Amino acid sequence: MTIGPLPRMTPKTIGTMIVHALVDSVGPVRLPGDLLLNLPKECLQRNSDWLQPDYIQPNTGLMIMAYTSFLIRIDGVSILIDCAVGEDANFPSRPDWHFGKSNWLNHLGQAGIGVEDIDIVLLTHLHADHTGWLTRKTLSGWIPSFPEARHLTSKKELQFWPEKATDFPFMSTSVGDNVVPLLEAGHFETVEAGSELAPGLFVVDLAGHSPGMIGLEYRKSGRIVAAFCADLMHHPMQMAAPQCATVFCHDPASAVSVRKRKLAEYAANGTLVFCNHFPGECAGQAIKQCDGYRFLPVV
Ligand SMILES: [Zn+2]
Repeated sequence: MTIGPLPRMTPKTIGTMIVHALVDSVGPVRLPGDLLLNLPKECLQRNSDWLQPDYIQPNTGLMIMAYTSFLIRIDGVSILIDCAVGEDANFPSRPDWHFGKSNWLNHLGQAGIGVEDIDIVLLTHLHADHTGWLTRKTLSGWIPSFPEARHLTSKKELQFWPEKATDFPFMSTSVGDNVVPLLEAGHFETVEAGSELAPGLFVVDLAGHSPGMIGLEYRKSGRIVAAFCADLMHHPMQMAAPQCATVFCHDPASAVSVRKRKLAEYAANGTLVFCNHFPGECAGQAIKQCDGYRFLPVV
């Protein structure tokens, strides 16, 4: 738990697009071996010069992670990517989230935007740490936070999670609290890979970590200039070791293969990659090194 202003990405301007970060929380969360499968023992030592102290807390070895959403303003359209953990959420297994509060909505205001100004809410996937602010708890129950917005996610996500969430303890009550109220109000639409949400801004398929995970890529003259890559990487260690899936991955083999393919594309294109769970300056470049990549934040 961080006390005081949370470290977060400075706004980024790319072409006609401005991107702000909205952060729910940031801090040391868990040991690498508790999240990443088959992590090579030497990974941390080989990469400690850039992983510590910003991404791995030296005294504890804990991974420092953030829970971030992105606000894109492009050609008169305001797009919110993901909704973080939210407030008042029932997470007995995560004491740091359990009925917690955050400044996430204030970050929206600091970007000069009100909830009524959001045109599109894009859910990359329906995991609990991406859907929290879809709704807010009131005396009359959970109500949509963005009643004027179109809410988009992939068909696979909408087919899988409302039916299966109770099989996964890490989802707790998030689907019932945050997703179902919007479904019942008829606010959700599905979107397919290849859809262009704004000029040059395309939906891409990143399925693996979650059954129908999607992201966004901003393309100009055939180059991928920027990418919003959801949970393609949870932590910079997954750039150093792209072969490592997480304990939360639905299809670990697909998660690894899409990460390797996309990291190769992003490194070749010099893409500015926006990562929901990286702390601080969470947009940067993937720089190829011998057996993986290093993350170079762009300030
Ligand atoms: Zn996540």
